Amino acid sequence: MEAGIVGLPNVGKSTLFNALTAAGIASENYPFCTIEPNVGMVPVPDPRLETIQEFVKTQKVIPAILRLVDIAGIVRGASEGEGLGNKFLSHIREVDAIIHVVRCFQEENVVHVDGSVDPIRDIDTIDTELMLADLQTVESARDKASRTARSGDKDAKAKVEILNQCHALLADGKPLRSAEWHDPEMYKIVRNFGLLTAKSVLYLANVDEDNLDGEGEIVQRVRERAAAEGGEVVPVCAKIESELIELDDEDRREMLESVGLEEPALAVVARAAYKLLGLQSYFTAGEKEVRAWTIPVGATAPQAAGVIHSDFERGFIRAEVYALEDLKTLKSEKAIREAGKLRVEGKSYVMEDGDICHFLFNV
Ligand code: GDP
Repeated sequence: MEAGIVGLPNVGKSTLFNALTAAGIASENYPFCTIEPNVGMVPVPDPRLETIQEFVKTQKVIPAILRLVDIAGIVRGASEGEGLGNKFLSHIREVDAIIHVVRCFQEENVVHVDGSVDPIRDIDTIDTELMLADLQTVESARDKASRTARSGDKDAKAKVEILNQCHALLADGKPLRSAEWHDPEMYKIVRNFGLLTAKSVLYLANVDEDNLDGEGEIVQRVRERAAAEGGEVVPVCAKIESELIELDDEDRREMLESVGLEEPALAVVARAAYKLLGLQSYFTAGEKEVRAWTIPVGATAPQAAGVIHSDFERGFIRAEVYALEDLKTLKSEKAIREAGKLRVEGKSYVMEDGDICHFLFNV
C-alpha cells in the first residue's frame, strides 16, 4: 500500500517526508519493496506488537509499513506542463491515497509561492490541477467508450454514463472524492480509471510550533474544508518532527513532553493513513519474528496469507487463529491450544483486525 505526498513548493513536504521515513527500516525484512530515492517506508507503530512480545520470545519484531512517495512538482499550471508538468501525474496515478501537506506556519524567511499563508487557496490550486488532469482523462476515456458503445456494448454504455457523471462534477469544480457514490461498484470503476481526485486525501496541516494542538484559526479552516469532503486533518509541525528524529529515545521523550505531545506525528500520520486506506493488521508470532502484516478490511484468510507470499494464497489449506486477548489471559500459544481457543479457519474466513495466525499450505 502506498501513499503519495503532494503540496505546493515550500510547504514543508521534504522536511516531513524525511522525518516520516527516517526511522531506518531494515530493508532486508521487506525484500519485495524496491526503494527509489523518492520512496520511503514508514513503520506503523502498533502497541499490540509489544504486548505479543511479552508472551512470545522472539528474535525480532517487525512492524507493518506504509510506502510513502514524495511527489514533487505540483505548481499552478502543472496540468498544462508548468514546472515538472505532467510527470508527477503518473506518480499520483499509482498511489492508493494522497497525503496533502498544507502550509499553516508563518515564517518570513520561507517565501510562499503565492506570497501569503492561505491553506484553502493552496488546496484549491492543487485540486484545480488534479481536476484539470482528470478532465483530460475522462474526456479521452469517454471518447473511447462511446465508440465501443455504438456497437451495442452494454459495459461501454455504462462506462459512458459514469464518465458523464464524472465530467459534470469536474466541470463544476468538484473533486470526485467529494461526491457521494451511492453505488460502490460505480466508485470502483471511477477509481479504476486512475482518476486523481477520486483518491482519498489526508491533509497534514504544517503548523507553527506554538500551535501544535491544531486549534488555531487557520487549521480550523482546513478542518472545515476536509470535513466537507469526508477527509481528515492531522496537525503536525515539520520543524519539530525533523528535530525529534535526531534525538535518542530518552531525549525524544523529554522533548515531546516539553512541547506537550504524546507521540511523534509519525505515529498519528501512519494510523490516519491506515484508516484512510481501509487497512488493518494481522500478526504472525514465532521464535524468529513477531510481525504485523497489512491487509484490507474484509480480506479473507487466503488473501491474508498471500501478503506473506503468493504461494501461501495459492496453496492455502487452513489457518490457525487466536486472539490477542486470549494470549494475555492464557499467556502462551500452547495454553491457548489446550483451552480449545485456537480456532481453525478455512478459505472463506474473513480476517479480523489483530488476529494472530499460522497458515497451513501446500507448495
Ligand atoms: P517543500 O518544498 O514543500 O518540500 O518544503 P521544504 O520541506 O523544503 O521546506 C521549505 C522550507 O520551510 C525549509 O526551509 C524548511 O526548513 C521550512 N519549514 C518546513 N516546515 C516548517 C515548519 O513547520 N516551521 C517553520 N518555521 N519552517 C518550516
